[in-house]
Amino acid sequence: MNSKTKLTGRVIFRGDPGYEAARKNWDPHTNRFPKVFVFAQRTQDVANAIKWARENHVPIRARSGRHALETNLSQVNGGIVIDVSEMKKIKLNKKNGTVIVETGNRVGRIANTLAAQGFIAPFGDSPTVGIGGITLGGGIGPLQRTIGLISDNLIELEMVDANGKVIVANKKQNADLLWASRGGGGGNFGIYTRYKFKVRRAPAKATVFKISWPWNQFEKVLKAWQQWAPSVDTRLGSELNIGPKKGGNVMMEGLFLGSKTEAIRLLKPLTSVGTPTESIIRLLPYTEAVKFLLPPDPVLTQRFSNQFSSGFGKRPFPDKAIKVMRHFLEKAEANSTAGFFFLNWGGAVSRVSPKATAFFWRKAKFYVEWNTSWIKPSDAARNIALTRNTRRKLQPFIVGSYINVPDQGIENSGPVYYGANFPRLRRVKAKYDPQNVFRNPQSIPPA
Ligand SMILES: Cc1cc2nc3c(=O)[nH]c(=O)nc-3n(C[C@H](O)[C@H](O)[C@H](O)COP(=O)(O)OP(=O)(O)OC[C@H]3O[C@@H](n4cnc5c(N)ncnc54)[C@H](O)[C@@H]3O)c2cc1C
Repeated sequence: MNSKTKLTGRVIFRGDPGYEAARKNWDPHTNRFPKVFVFAQRTQDVANAIKWARENHVPIRARSGRHALETNLSQVNGGIVIDVSEMKKIKLNKKNGTVIVETGNRVGRIANTLAAQGFIAPFGDSPTVGIGGITLGGGIGPLQRTIGLISDNLIELEMVDANGKVIVANKKQNADLLWASRGGGGGNFGIYTRYKFKVRRAPAKATVFKISWPWNQFEKVLKAWQQWAPSVDTRLGSELNIGPKKGGNVMMEGLFLGSKTEAIRLLKPLTSVGTPTESIIRLLPYTEAVKFLLPPDPVLTQRFSNQFSSGFGKRPFPDKAIKVMRHFLEKAEANSTAGFFFLNWGGAVSRVSPKATAFFWRKAKFYVEWNTSWIKPSDAARNIALTRNTRRKLQPFIVGSYINVPDQGIENSGPVYYGANFPRLRRVKAKYDPQNVFRNPQSIPPA
């Protein structure tokens, strides 16, 4: 290719050894055939790659942990994927209570590294999600009621803009970019290379829990969970998973930053429902609690493709909504990873004003997502339609959608992902990327 700028870092063109491995995202449904992957080793490699792409008119995608849940976000046919996953420094400053992480780190590596040094870093339900993407979209998980979203703890960032210029944002300089990066979603403003988070001391111990029920008790469990989870002690974070009718079960998992005795008492409204088949409530050193909640991803011989959709519940799902769920769970593929997932809201997430950061949906009672999953490409269309039809039927019972769990079936998606923050996000976009160089199917258009 003809250009002034040379690509630097570990560069893999289509046809080179390593191309197939470079092309494998977490969800095979999102794999594409990019022209080239650049595995940046330092910020300058990212800047060179952006300049090269613009000189050659090649579409750009940023990638960190490869966990994108929709297509054409972290890979694109014929494009350049600027991958930061080999930039993995972590620098904890105990005295200031801050940590600087390069954006190639995975959530589990940060949470475990900090826990070993006596500090809390927020995490979700998987150790392998990239800090690069999860932070920009918000970052939800069982600690959010205590310490807020991952992005609520972001205090500074380094980003390379569309001209290849390195920009730092914090509350004193480029504060609008910091605001937009706390929930505005990846792939919109530039390529981020470094985040600085505030961190706090971890407790010596925490109580973890995992309770399971047979699938056919899901309605009872969900009803009890919806009454209980949003208002229970804010030191308790709870995820509720409901699998497909064929081969699935109901499983609630989470943590309580307090004693086991108190956890047992707080969990009673759930442990007394139905007939749990498994009930683990365990006080562990904080380091072990993190490992319990972030076990290594299962090693699968075949990867499932997925279609997700997400929203927020402002009040408990009524019977009508639960009927829609039942229909979905009956139709989902047997023994697949399809299902519904709920996470309780309230506490630190909800204390922040919806306009204080780009993450808007703070006043809900719970977060909800559902996904179909399949292996054979010929099953894709049916499953994608099932997820999207379910969204249509659940629409009266939910608001918004989570940009990190996007659904490209949503039309005019800006206000759905960002609520009343969408106009301001468009203005920030116009300032930092007026030519819309960083764009994907549902990215923020410049004002
Ligand atoms: C198994 C699994 C579990 C999950 N659990 C949770 C959870 O508990 N909580 C939660 O909040 N979310 C969760 N998610 C969703 C997750 O937050 C999003 O998929 C997130 O975007 C993934 O980020 P990534 O860096 O791994 O993905 P990638 O595929 O690398 O990127 C995803 C998006 O972010 C952009 N991006 C990535 N890195 C950068 C960068 N350096 N600069 C600019 N843009 C960038 C990409 O361009 C793309 O648009 C989960 C996803 C999966 C697959």
